[in-house]
Amino acid sequence: MDYYQVLNSRQSEDLSVIKRRYQDLLLKHHPDKNGGVESLLFQQVREAWSHLSSPERRQQYDAQLYRAQLDQDSAVWCTLDLTQFRQSGGDYSFECKCSGVYEIDQEQLDDLRKDGDSDCLIACDSCSLSVLVTLDNR
Ligand SMILES: [Zn+2]
Repeated sequence: MDYYQVLNSRQSEDLSVIKRRYQDLLLKHHPDKNGGVESLLFQQVREAWSHLSSPERRQQYDAQLYRAQLDQDSAVWCTLDLTQFRQSGGDYSFECKCSGVYEIDQEQLDDLRKDGDSDCLIACDSCSLSVLVTLDNR
């Protein structure tokens, strides 16, 4: 089960946003509104929240998701740092071997850094490869 999915949330969202969704779901699926029956969804919502509401547990879960993503996305072509990207304005790009391109912009980078991420995966715009970009170099 994907805790973010259960809470209709995304990994990048703030806890306060996720909390609002959680409260909405909790009300909607509360046993009192379902003839006293604790639905599976209600249990999942509570379980998901118990993991995401604690910063440590959320961090562990994020790391777990990240590893799963890496495993699944076995097609990580290489690891790069930003200095290897071509920079123009606030955009960074790197050419894939398929001649597609990996792109990230300054705003996305700022967001990632704000979230404390030290690396991120960028998908090629025309094939199934990804590159792992390390961000902690500046
Ligand atoms: Zn490509």
